[in-house]
Amino acid sequence: AEIGGGSNARTLKIQGVKDIIAVASGKGGVGKSTTAVNLAVSLANKCRLNVGLLDADVYGPSIPMMMKLHGKPEVSKGNKMIPIENHGVKCISMGSLVEKDAPIVWRGPMVMKALEQMTRGVEWGQLDILVVDMPPGTGDAQISMSQRLQLSGALIVSTPQDVALMDARRGVKMFSKVSVPILGIIENMSYFKCPHCSKPSYIFGKGGARKTANEMGLGFVGEIPLEEEIRSGSDEGVPVVISHPNSAVSEAYGDVAHKI
Ligand code: ADP
Repeated sequence: AEIGGGSNARTLKIQGVKDIIAVASGKGGVGKSTTAVNLAVSLANKCRLNVGLLDADVYGPSIPMMMKLHGKPEVSKGNKMIPIENHGVKCISMGSLVEKDAPIVWRGPMVMKALEQMTRGVEWGQLDILVVDMPPGTGDAQISMSQRLQLSGALIVSTPQDVALMDARRGVKMFSKVSVPILGIIENMSYFKCPHCSKPSYIFGKGGARKTANEMGLGFVGEIPLEEEIRSGSDEGVPVVISHPNSAVSEAYGDVAHKI
């Protein structure tokens, strides 16, 4: 790990980490963390990669719950945090470091300091890929994070709804401003399949994210339905790709993992 010197002065290089990808969304509540978790677990278990998951959503860290992480990271001899591993993924989250339910009211410089600790101050070992669950939105914090993390690419999560797509566009523009390639758009909560008659209902509209991706010349990497197992998996700390590995949604997440 090195900071300082030349053009890398403002970036956070992490020794041993080959690629860092961000999972981002223009607004909250669209399923960004759920996507980050299921993608990271698929990359580890289906693609057989060494995967880390960094919960950079410092304002609302949900990875400890979704990945069932207990306790605080131990500190190594070299004074670095040892990630907490579960479901085959090494995780670090601000949620494991602060008291539960404590409101996190941080200003920009503190966020950047925390980010530095959560990247360079961690014993990641050799990682093929570090998945970063970004804070939602396109403000200054997200821009400076994207610049400093030296991202290989960003995956944008959106629902099919107009307002969410408008925010997704803003997210795409933000990443292009800081020259981070967009890996594609993934549509979440695409439809709901009736458990009784199997008929799909397009609750938030149909095909919105695919259309936006096409218009912007971006890849459309997949659609994930609204499903109870996805929600319960997140709440119980056993991601759906672990609890229902052969389901259609798990295959869809696996496809996304292979594409990126
Ligand atoms: P964000 O990170 O964008 O704020 P989350 O991933 O925390 O969003 O998801 C918000 C809520 O919606 C969570 O309770 C999550 O379990 C649920 N959720 C997300 N995606 C789905 C889905 N495809 N089907 C059912 N519930 C979902």
